[in-house]
Parts: sequence; C-alpha cells; structure tokens
Amino acid sequence: MLKLMITGGAGFIGGNFILRQLQQTDNSIVNFDILTYAGDISKFKSIEGNKNYKFVRGDICDREVVGKIISDWQPDAIVHFAAESHVDRSIDGPSVFIRTNIVGTSILLEEATKYFYALSKQKRQCFRFLHISTDEVFGQLGKEGKFNETTPYNPSSPYSASKASSDHLVRAWHRTYGLPVLITNCSNNYGPYQFPEKLIPLTIINAISNKPLPIYGKGENIRDWIYVSDHCEAVSKVLLKGRIGETYLIGGNCERTNLEVVKTICSLLDGIRPNPNGKSYREQITFVQDRPGHDFRYAMDISKIKEEIAWEPKYSFTEGLKETISWYLENQDWWAEIQQKKYRQERLGIIEK
Ligand code: NAD
Repeated sequence: MLKLMITGGAGFIGGNFILRQLQQTDNSIVNFDILTYAGDISKFKSIEGNKNYKFVRGDICDREVVGKIISDWQPDAIVHFAAESHVDRSIDGPSVFIRTNIVGTSILLEEATKYFYALSKQKRQCFRFLHISTDEVFGQLGKEGKFNETTPYNPSSPYSASKASSDHLVRAWHRTYGLPVLITNCSNNYGPYQFPEKLIPLTIINAISNKPLPIYGKGENIRDWIYVSDHCEAVSKVLLKGRIGETYLIGGNCERTNLEVVKTICSLLDGIRPNPNGKSYREQITFVQDRPGHDFRYAMDISKIKEEIAWEPKYSFTEGLKETISWYLENQDWWAEIQQKKYRQERLGIIEK
C-alpha cells in the first residue's frame, strides 16, 4: 500500500489515473490541483467518502503550500501530472505555460528534495518522483523513423518547450541532488473526461451538435494515439518497476493522420448514432488554416517499456474510440456544463484566423 501525492489529478489523465488507482489498489491519494479551466472534480462524485482519497486545492508554484502538503501527507511517491497542456493556448499565451510547467515543476522538485533528505534511509529507498511528460518534446519526424529514449530534444511550441524544460529540470535534480526520479513521455491520449477542446472530444461533440468538424491544414499531420487507461496502466507500472533516473516512452502503436482520426470517428458515429438528417457526419468536415509550427509527425518506439516493464497498450484504436464515443454520448451533462462556463470560448475549437 502506497501513499501517493498526485499533482493535476483533477485534469484528464490525472483524474483517470486516480479513479483507476482507487478501483484497483489500496493506495491512498492526495490530489493537489489548483483547478484551472481544465480541472474538474465532479468526476470524483462516485468516490465521495472514500477514506483513501483527499483533495487539496493549491498551486504548484506556491512553495509554502507545496512544502506543507508534502510534509503533512508524507508521500511514498509524487506523480506529477499538473501542467498547462494545450498547444493552441500556449501559442496564444505562453507565460502561464512557463510559470506552471517550468517554475511550478522546479518548486515541486525543490520541496520534494527537502522532504526526501529528511526521510529515514528505508523510506528514501522507496521514494519516487514520477514526472509525466509528452512526446512533443522531441519535435517533428519526417515520414520515416520513430522517437526513442535517446532522441534529442527539439520542441516546436511554447507548450512542448516548457515540457522539455521541465524534463531537463527533473533529470538535473536526479543528477545533482540524487532525487529518485522517473520520467515518462507519452503520445496523444484520448478517452473519458478529456476537456472538449482537444481533437477527439471536440469532433464527437461538434458532430452530434451538427457543427463543422474543423481540421488543421489538409489533415495530414500524424500523431500516435493511446487510450487513456493504457497510459494510466503504464504509469502505474513505471512507478513500481521503473529504474531510477530512467525515461520511458509510452505510446499506443497507433499512428493516424488527423483526417483519418476524424473520418474514423464519423464512421463509428454513423453506426452508433446515425445523424437524424440521414447524412454521414463526414459531410461536416471542414479544413481550416494550419497552426503555426505544427509538427508533421510523431511516432513512438516503445521497446524499452515493453522489455523492461512488460507493458504494452491493450486497446486498438477502434476499441478505444468506441469506448470514448459511448462515454461522451452517455455523459452529455459533463461536457455541456463545461461548455456553458464562462471562459475563453474561442479556444473551444479550432478557429480560423
Ligand atoms: P489537463 O489540462 O487535462 O489537466 C491538467 C491539470 O493540472 C488540471 O486539473 C489543472 O487544474 C492542473 N493544474 C494546472 N496548473 C496547475 C498549478 N499551477 N498547480 C496545480 N495544478 C495545476 O492535462 P492532461 O491532458 O490531463 O495532461 C496531464 C499531464 O500529461 C500533463 O503534464 C501533460 O503535459 C501530459 N501529457 C498529456 C498528453 C495528452 O494527450 N493529454 C500526452 C502526453 C503527456
């Protein structure tokens, strides 16, 4: 049984991770999250009263609060999901990405290190700091090749540059201060509770709302897609079995162009919930001006995690998408409430400039 401190657990992946941990383990969790526009704690209604779960609202940039929560909770591990995570938003307003993803991570590392040094020798052997990162730190690939753990960093957007910086800080804290860190870099996630500004939920919601389905450029950019529960399982395994100081790439073995992703969603929706007007949802597809600095292709070589940790993705793209579409159809209250909130609505979709 572990005591975990999860940062950013009110977000999409952290939230799925916590719900899974509480279902599948006896681990106890403190979820430390500031609740930005992307944070949502309604997903934890089903676990209300669970003695193994506690929520604390706070900012990873607030040193005093971070220090206090770590020393009060006495975690065996910190799993750091908290971040500003949307590339488009980072283009519009990079400074919050620098603050949260770089400064926030450095404060968390400093406070975790103080705590680590004060632990008994036995507890120190168990302690881990697991940093959740992205494949976007590596920049873009051409038509051939895949990223692996030794690929040089070459980030393109303010988001990926801020995540790259945080990865470097985490490694530096291991080499300089001996903090027992682990880093995972994962590809594009999709699944339940993803904020409806990201491609897959946005497409599902716009399709059934009879709105255009915007695609950047010609839709030729390629991403590797992973169902969120596969990512969460990989993180749990790395936490238990990962070698200190190591990085593990996590991917879904599923490269698709954006156009293929949107067309697949349309075809599945045509079967699951046919458009009342009798047309295919594909007819709603519309191409919009490309995003600046849009990386062409990401692809993941996941042999290291497969060989060392015995993890590989379980969900095919079709299975994962079917689950996701059903979830968004059955949970319209969740996303409708988000859509009604007063925040920067223009980012609830890809806008034509
Ligand atoms: P998300 O935007 O859904 O959630 C981020 C959470 O962090 C939110 O709950 C937010 O309130 C919280 N947060 C933001 N600033 C904070 C602060 N200053 N203090 C405390 N909490 C704060 O993000 P996500 O999609 O769940 O991504 C989680 C992590 O996984 C991120 O680090 C992201 O870079 C990484 N990642 C995401 C993907 C993906 O496809 N979504 C892929 C690879 C890696």
